Amino acid sequence: MVSVSDAQAIILNLVQPLDRLRDTEIVNLLAADSRILAVPVTSPLDFPHWDNSAMDGYAVRYEDVQHSSAEQPTVLEIVEDIPAGYQPNSTIQPGEAARIFTGALMPAGADTIVIQERTRRDENRVHILAAPKPQEFVRHKASFYQAGTQLLPAGIKLNASEIAVLAAAQCPQLSVYRRPRVAIFSTGDELVPIDQPLQSGQIVDSNQYALAALVKESGAEPLLLGIVKDDPVALEKVITHAIAIADLVISSGGVSVGDYDYVDKILQSLSAKIHIRSVEMRPGKPLTVATFPSTDAINRVSSHSPLYFGLPGNPAAVLVTFWQFVLPAIKKLSGITEGWEPAFLKVRSHHELRSDGKRETYLWGKLHLIDGVYEFYKAGGSSSSGNLINLAQTNALAVLPMGKTLISPQEEVQVLQLVNGE
Ligand code: AMP
Ligand code: MG
Repeated sequence: MVSVSDAQAIILNLVQPLDRLRDTEIVNLLAADSRILAVPVTSPLDFPHWDNSAMDGYAVRYEDVQHSSAEQPTVLEIVEDIPAGYQPNSTIQPGEAARIFTGALMPAGADTIVIQERTRRDENRVHILAAPKPQEFVRHKASFYQAGTQLLPAGIKLNASEIAVLAAAQCPQLSVYRRPRVAIFSTGDELVPIDQPLQSGQIVDSNQYALAALVKESGAEPLLLGIVKDDPVALEKVITHAIAIADLVISSGGVSVGDYDYVDKILQSLSAKIHIRSVEMRPGKPLTVATFPSTDAINRVSSHSPLYFGLPGNPAAVLVTFWQFVLPAIKKLSGITEGWEPAFLKVRSHHELRSDGKRETYLWGKLHLIDGVYEFYKAGGSSSSGNLINLAQTNALAVLPMGKTLISPQEEVQVLQLVNGE
């Protein structure tokens, strides 16, 4: 049995990211949000493209206005009006100024902007009522970014701010990593599909739906392979198929020590190397992580051996092990270069939290903002590991480290935030 942090390290070490050259595709910028940039972006444009004004006001020569005050204003003659988007015609001479607006080009000769609030207009003259700083409110060409240098590195997720930068840099199309393909199947004789009436003793295969949603949220493409009986022949068939079509395989169920838990045995018969069998956590203790030997006999989509995750069947354990282990692996696989591990927040616990202290323990709940500070509220209802119902409407997982049996109300607790806001 390994600790959670050792398991995370072992798993991340096993993941081979998608190939920078082979595993990419070109997408339009409008379809690029949440994708992972595969190639660094360089722009031939400087930012700003030209010296321009940051404010509405007057473009002046600093030399002319440096001693201005309300008592002794400098009076300048306005020689031009420069709205944004227009080319100035004049060169500002001593004693002159140009009326200028935010984003408009600086006229030649001027080096400083005086904001309009510090001026008084008198027909075609302006009174400068306060001395500006030299070059104040001028955005200088290339002061934000110099043409030819790296604008964005490869391996980042493209969110709205990166999309804005790419649009400004006139990049209509981009090379991004293809979505990792993740095969998902459920194992268990008791499982039935969502649309089938339940016979006594049966339950609906909810894990497949949960995992499909989690995989999609992670930016990967789920390949749903259905329900497989607790039958070695059927299991071997689906595992062989899964490793041939996917970059990563997730099964749920059948990895405990029960008589019908065949997954590990089949993996071994397929010459898989099993790196992890169980983790010191609750829920989620049985967890199989395996890799397969590279062989040309398998027609793989990827040049790498897919990573196999045999998650426990318990639906709560599926969620916890996905967030702690599978998601970091998908992030690394997808080409993201850093920040793979889950990020925990330190917050106050509203309720008392208990564990037997024997394994790292996860408790479901909700983060509430109280006077700008997050507080963790434990989910109501049964906290039995078989209870799926009270997971709905939660947005956080509190963790009690091994050895910690009690967190009192108002004590600090580490929490994994599952969704942003509501
Ligand atoms: P197992 O890990 O196969 O021993 O399963 C542990 C528990 O999780 C059992 O109560 C199963 O019925 C339940 N379970 C297994 N697979 C699923 C699934 N796909 N969807 C919902 N519950 C499941
Ligand atoms: Mg089972």
